[in-house]
Amino acid sequence: MTFQFEAPIVVLTGAGISAESGVPTFRGEGGLWRNFRPEELATPQAFKRDPKLVWEWYTWRRELVSKCEPNAAHRTLVEMEVVVTAAMSGDAQAFTLITQNVDGLHEAAGSQNVVTLHGSLWSMRCVREGRRFEDRRLKMGNYLLRCPNCDAPLRPDVVWFGEMLDETVLQKAYEASERARTMIVIGTSALVHPAASLPITAKRNGARLIEVNPEETPLSPYVDETLRGPAAVELPRWWKLQHP
Ligand code: NAD
Repeated sequence: MTFQFEAPIVVLTGAGISAESGVPTFRGEGGLWRNFRPEELATPQAFKRDPKLVWEWYTWRRELVSKCEPNAAHRTLVEMEVVVTAAMSGDAQAFTLITQNVDGLHEAAGSQNVVTLHGSLWSMRCVREGRRFEDRRLKMGNYLLRCPNCDAPLRPDVVWFGEMLDETVLQKAYEASERARTMIVIGTSALVHPAASLPITAKRNGARLIEVNPEETPLSPYVDETLRGPAAVELPRWWKLQHP
């Protein structure tokens, strides 16, 4: 099969890809940070000060996301992974999906090679030992949940403001970006680093950059192709043109 783009292909997604599934974005119109203050909800200090409030916020977000389904853009990325990987004789590095989203909708759609930069709404982590526990409960009841091994509090397994990303995960994202021949950046305001520097890394290493976003972003001046519109419309349309 021939494509109009070169592989390996790397896709970087942000909150905008889930917008049409009903998950609110962070910045911009209707964004979560328009109505909530990140420093009160998404920092280690906030969790120390008021773990109940922070857990309530994440429980509310879990409830919201649990009612949402993957949309046509998520599904297109699943198909893209299958087709591109098969075209490259099963090469595991042919397609990498790097996401800043914590909603789990890529995995729910069926994407396999997903690098989750900012953690998951559906995982909790022991503040003392760092052990992770997957947990899909919506009603937490006791907000000060304890680690079954050491009894320390469990926190949401997401990267908060002011925190470092997991080094192994970040390394994987940089390596994929350096290898990429094509990078598609979907639904991110391209403001939060280090995620925002991945497309620049790819570009410096010769990748072709494609941006899917209804709005202009700081990345827009550097891209080779712009799909200016909602991801659930633009991405399936673009994908159809790649392998008619
Ligand atoms: P964002 O809200 O900053 O940007 C969303 C982007 O999506 C915008 O550029 C918007 O134009 C675009 N968009 C809106 N609707 C769209 C659609 N239908 N199709 C395509 N694009 C659309 O979200 P972001 O860029 O993902 O933000 C970066 C990260 O900041 C987040 O992913 C999040 O992980 C992170 N963050 C979150 C927390 C937290 O809550 N704990 C803390 C720190 C950082």
